[in-house]
Amino acid sequence: MSTRHAVVIGGGLGGLAVALRLSAAGWRVTVCDSGSTFGGKMNQWSDGGFTFDTGPSLITMPWVFADLFTAAGTRMDEHIELIRMEPLARYVFDDGTSLDYGSSIPQLLTTIQQVEPRDVDGFWRFLHLGARIFELSKETFFRRGAFEPPDAAALRALRHMPLRHAWGNYHSVVAKHFRSPYLRQLYDRYPTYVGSSPYAAPATLAIIPYIELAFGGWYVRGGLYRIVQSLVDLCRTRGVDLRTNSRVASIIRDNKRASGVLLEGGEALTADIVVMNGDTADVPGLLNEPDSAPLAPAERSLSGFVMLLGVRRTLADVPHHSVYFSADYEREFTDLFARRIFPEDPTVYVNVASRTDRSIVPDDGEAIFIMANAPATDVPWTNGEVKDATSRVLARLRRGGFPEIEADIVVRDTWTPTRLASSYAAPGGAIYGTHSHGWRRAFMRPPNKDSRTGGLYYVGGSTHPGGGTPTVLMSAQITSDLIARHEQP
Ligand SMILES: Cc1cc2nc3c(=O)[nH]c(=O)nc-3n(C[C@H](O)[C@H](O)[C@H](O)COP(=O)(O)OP(=O)(O)OC[C@H]3O[C@@H](n4cnc5c(N)ncnc54)[C@H](O)[C@@H]3O)c2cc1C
Repeated sequence: MSTRHAVVIGGGLGGLAVALRLSAAGWRVTVCDSGSTFGGKMNQWSDGGFTFDTGPSLITMPWVFADLFTAAGTRMDEHIELIRMEPLARYVFDDGTSLDYGSSIPQLLTTIQQVEPRDVDGFWRFLHLGARIFELSKETFFRRGAFEPPDAAALRALRHMPLRHAWGNYHSVVAKHFRSPYLRQLYDRYPTYVGSSPYAAPATLAIIPYIELAFGGWYVRGGLYRIVQSLVDLCRTRGVDLRTNSRVASIIRDNKRASGVLLEGGEALTADIVVMNGDTADVPGLLNEPDSAPLAPAERSLSGFVMLLGVRRTLADVPHHSVYFSADYEREFTDLFARRIFPEDPTVYVNVASRTDRSIVPDDGEAIFIMANAPATDVPWTNGEVKDATSRVLARLRRGGFPEIEADIVVRDTWTPTRLASSYAAPGGAIYGTHSHGWRRAFMRPPNKDSRTGGLYYVGGSTHPGGGTPTVLMSAQITSDLIARHEQP
């Protein structure tokens, strides 16, 4: 075994993925997580026979997950079973209109035709814009570090560079392509997949609805946490030293190079390289330079308010994923980003995974995950805020015709930005690191290799290429490629 030692700070999805890739490349790897379990925001909660994913509920770009298993010397389908979601979601609007949005293009065209026949052409053009951005990104942004010069594949991909629209404002571009207020609100929701506002994000995020349509949205049988469990098993098999309850208090440097970490309990681990999977905003503190310039401006992405409800009844008419839209979407984002309050009228996302997978509930039950966006904040949520948020969320569901479930709840858990922040060392409870408002912030996240401290690398949602499970796995690939290039074997 190589004596070269990598210490990974954080065993979130990005930390586990980089640990596997480095171990496959011959490194001895230690992963230290401050929490009592691995997976970070990709977490699970079970009670009374109900099992919930507390974080991600839908994955896209399944080949990115398969690539990681391949890099670890195995096949994804030997570990997890992916189930394609059809429809992707049911959207329910304030006036009671609802539509099922699927990834079958013929069916979707019929739906759009019914909603607003003149939007069929706009839909094709919007999809084409997303496709061109995807073709460009897959050889550039998704594959290489933020400041690396383009290689031949990247240069070839630049022919897909969309000159019109892509650099404008996301909402304005949606409004140029769709007349229907329903389709506008539906497509405006996609920037929230990366914790951002459609009114401030660049139109390049049109890549997200394209990816979801072209490659599907997927569930993992048993819950998405199965991905984490498989990665932990593979790490163990490969001899990765996995440590929970091990908060890294500082990164040790020797002659401007990372040479190990100091754990909160006082133990020092020496290392040839250190990979930070926690939020990059914490790095100046870990380097004992709290006053030095942050790696990225502290403009945090959205956080969330989540309720997990196990109910003793079945909900045969409720789909796996549904979204209950607020009456005034622009006002909701003003509440979130300008007023920095939990929205007066939140859009509510409901995920009833037990509609697809009965293995996660008792026979007569359903596992309901309910989420609304909330601003990231350092000010602890009070019990009063939890009560208010709960009643606003339930009011929106009631208005949208969601079945009355309160009397049937048998297990319940609630997540606030404060709990997200403390459980995952996520500043302000931000789910996706920094937001993607304006193209600079969308594309210029902290790079995967530190420019000032040798041997210090970054992986995960707060670094390039950004938050969300597939992009976090891409960052693990980019980071391990950089390590292979810059560190002596
Ligand atoms: C409610 C919710 C819903 C979501 N929905 C989706 C979805 O549907 N689809 C999707 O793709 N994504 C979704 N996401 C986002 C996705 O979960 C994240 O982008 C991804 O899991 C982040 O992985 P990561 O490795 O970057 O970091 P994290 O999961 O944040 O892991 C970082 C780890 O580092 C540890 N750590 C930090 N500092 C230290 C330290 N000093 N010492 C030791 N350990 C430390 C933390 O404890 C944590 O375990 C959702 C997230 C949440 C919370």
